[in-house]
Formats: sequence, C-alpha cells, structure tokens
Amino acid sequence: MSVLIVGSTALDSIKTPKTENPRLLGGSASHAGVAASFFGPVKLVGVVGDDFPKRYLQLYQRHGIDLAGLQRLAGKTFHWSGEYEVNMNNRRTLLTELGVFETFTPKLPATYQTTPFVLLANIAPALQHHVLDQMRRPRFVAADTMDLWLKVALPDLLKLLKRLDAFVLNDSEAQQLTGEDNVLPALKKIHQLGPKYVVIKQGSHGSILSGPRGLFLCPAYPLRKVVDPTGAGDSFVGGMMGYLAAAKGPIDDHIRRAMVYGSVVASFCCEGFGLLRTTKTTRPQIDRRVKELEKLTKF
Ligand code: AMP
Repeated sequence: MSVLIVGSTALDSIKTPKTENPRLLGGSASHAGVAASFFGPVKLVGVVGDDFPKRYLQLYQRHGIDLAGLQRLAGKTFHWSGEYEVNMNNRRTLLTELGVFETFTPKLPATYQTTPFVLLANIAPALQHHVLDQMRRPRFVAADTMDLWLKVALPDLLKLLKRLDAFVLNDSEAQQLTGEDNVLPALKKIHQLGPKYVVIKQGSHGSILSGPRGLFLCPAYPLRKVVDPTGAGDSFVGGMMGYLAAAKGPIDDHIRRAMVYGSVVASFCCEGFGLLRTTKTTRPQIDRRVKELEKLTKF
C-alpha cells in the first residue's frame, strides 16, 4: 500500500563545525519521502519555487516518488539554514524563508485521496489539517511536528491530535507540550490529547512507543561518526510509515519492527549531509543493519 506524505520540500543550508553545505535538497517531506520509498510507493504533497533544481526533482523520481501533488509556483523555494555545535546535537536555526510556502494551499489530486497511509510530516498544523480534510477514510494517520508549532500554532495542533492514530515528536517537544520532564507521564498526557500511538524520539538514544500493547523501547543504530543529523527525525518517521504500509495485517503486529526500520534509515541519514547518504542506501544495507540491531539488543 502507498503512503501519502505532506511536509516541507526545501533547500537546506547546513553548517557544521567542519563544513558548510548550501542549498541541499531538504525538508521534512523530502527526508520522509525518500525514507519511505525503500519500502513501497510514496505520494508527495508539497510546493517548490522556480529556483528548485531539476536534479532534485529527478532524485525524487529515481526513488519512484509520485510528484502529482508537488506544486511548482513562481517564487522562491522554502529555504532553511541551521548550524550545529561541536557535539552535533545542539542545533541553531539561522534562517527560515518561507518563500512559496507562504501562499501554499495543498490541493490533492484525485489519485491521492484514497491513499491508506498518511504521514503529516513537519509543517504548519493548518496545512496538515487541510490535507487530512481531503482524504477519504485513510487507514492510518500519523503526524510529526516541531517546537515552532507548539509555540505559534498550539490550538491547531491540539485539534489535529484528535484526528490522528499516531503522534511522533521528540523529547524536548514532549516536555514543551506536557510540562513533564519524565517520558512516562508525558506519554500518558499525550494519549489523553487523542492519539492511540505516541512515539517520543530521543535522538541517538533511540525512541519509545506507547500503544495498545504497552511500551516499546526502540534502539538507535550506534554510529561511530555523525556527519549531519538534519532530517534524521523525518527519516525515522518516513521509514516507519513506509514499512507499516508495506506490512500486511494489524498495525500492532508490525509497529515495533517498523520503528526499528525507521531508526536504521535515520542512521544512514546521519552519515552524510542532507540526503546525500540516504539516497545512496540500498534495501539490503538497511536489512543488514536491522539484523545487527536485533543481535545487539537481544537478551
Ligand atoms: P529534523 O532534523 O528532523 O528536525 O528536520 C530538519 C528538516 O526540517 C530540514 O530539512 C528543514 O528543511 C525542515 N524544516 C526546518 N524548519 C521547518 C519549518 N518551520 N517547517 C517545516 N520544515 C522545516
């Protein structure tokens, strides 16, 4: 089954203590879309400007991503710039230029409206609602977010939580949303806001799921060297949704393994700037890391 993914389609300028890389292909929907494409068909919803390089469109196409829902408007593509500290965990946003996102109203092609799996990747909650409004009875809907929306669009986000099966956020966002430092009371409070499945991402420490079958601790794949973690969270949730959409049977039978696959795709993302490493990854490489993680966590 296919996954519909809406989110940002961006040009990212990324600075690390060692290097600077301008105008790479980025955005939550790009990272999540490429990650999900390792498992099955992906339908992308987003917008780019007339400065968006053709080679980036070709990259989506090489991953078999359906671009019927990608609007091309006159103006500038969303541009985000961030800088990492030496520890490669702390990140500062240097610039966010909305460009064509300022006037973007997603209009889903008819072929998109019956997609069974929907990922509302990080983007303004009003746009996430707008996409969901056009869907016809999806089987499973998940959303991601970021600190900005908790600050400037909380009422919209709270309304969205009631429409989701799964909500995925990182630990600092969970703390910001619930006021809880401890992940367990935070998970409980987020369930009370609506979603049946809550996933809290903990960066290089993995992630934790709370769902109908209780808790699951998902490991992160241990990396010797992190080149650029931009998009790791998006790759995680994209990989997880791609795997779930490809699996047959109840969500509960597959969601743990789906998270492990997401975690492994995120590990590849961290090994290169932007999408440079992820796009060179193959399904057998992903499967090998999943097997390694299985060995590392068995007791
Ligand atoms: P992550 O590292 O998982 O937090 O995701 C980083 C990605 O989020 C980058 O590729 C950015 O282009 C994208 N991004 C940054 N700010 C925003 C925003 N305000 N809305 C949507 N996407 C954003």
